[in-house]
Amino acid sequence: MLENKFPGKDLTEEDLKSKVPLCAKKSRDHRTIVKAAGVEFGGKLIPIFAGPNAVENESMIMRTAEAVKMAGAHFLRAGAFKPLSFPYRSEKYFELREEGLKLLLKAKAAFQIPIITEIMHETKVDIVAEVADILQVGARNMQNYPLLEAVARTSKPIMLKRHYGASLRDWLGAAEYILHAGNPNVILCERGVVVPHTHRATSRFLLDLQVIPAAQEVTHLPVVTDPSHATFWKPWVKPMALSSIAAGADGVMIEVHPDPENAAVDPLQPIDFRDFKGLMKDMERVANAIDRTVGVSA
Ligand code: PEP
Ligand code: MN
Repeated sequence: MLENKFPGKDLTEEDLKSKVPLCAKKSRDHRTIVKAAGVEFGGKLIPIFAGPNAVENESMIMRTAEAVKMAGAHFLRAGAFKPLSFPYRSEKYFELREEGLKLLLKAKAAFQIPIITEIMHETKVDIVAEVADILQVGARNMQNYPLLEAVARTSKPIMLKRHYGASLRDWLGAAEYILHAGNPNVILCERGVVVPHTHRATSRFLLDLQVIPAAQEVTHLPVVTDPSHATFWKPWVKPMALSSIAAGADGVMIEVHPDPENAAVDPLQPIDFRDFKGLMKDMERVANAIDRTVGVSA
């Protein structure tokens, strides 16, 4: 690691010893395998999470669960509790909350697919943990330390999304809270960062592919990406998903919707069932090139 003259922004050797000792690698090849619902993150397999942004109704979540399972996804993703950017709700912009959890449980039972879903409130940890095989802490809650400690206590695996303005140092600091609270099962998720200028004025986030090797240089925790939230734009999801795998990601989250244009939340980013099936095969080919697999035939 480079000598760091500006401690507090980038990670230093001293930080690794005193601030994030539980996240820090103890040796070059030190990797933690996080196991969730029998699926391993951090090994040869690159597990795939797929599903809509939000649970919208029973028929769409059941159809999506079936389609992504058939295509080879390892987890169904969908938000019941959503960190929506604006407080107003309508028929087109909503979250189903407890009702959504019930539908996720139904989909899980019907198609034998494990669930990853977001936890936003300390008071809801128990009911979300009853349904979720992996608890997702969203970008906006990355530094909600009481929430991190509460989710840690469930002893469920936790996927910790990187806040779009967070340094690697702050991201690992947040992960350290979970490990320090006694839960070693943390998966880091890069979901795009805000940069002042990029290729397009409307680009909301930029997928930080470089943070994959940067994180893996210093931590033993698995690192996955979410190209859907990062690009916010369907045509860019496939190239960024493939690049994530090439860059060493230990998993990929893809938004999939039966009718993408009419998705209740973030309609510009989900891909449809057919594209997802094709993407799984393409991801398998890239994974094979680096001696890994997403678990489908290419
Ligand atoms: C999500 O995955 O549904 C989500 C809200 O993501 P993020 O926290 O990365 O914005
Ligand atoms: Mn979203």
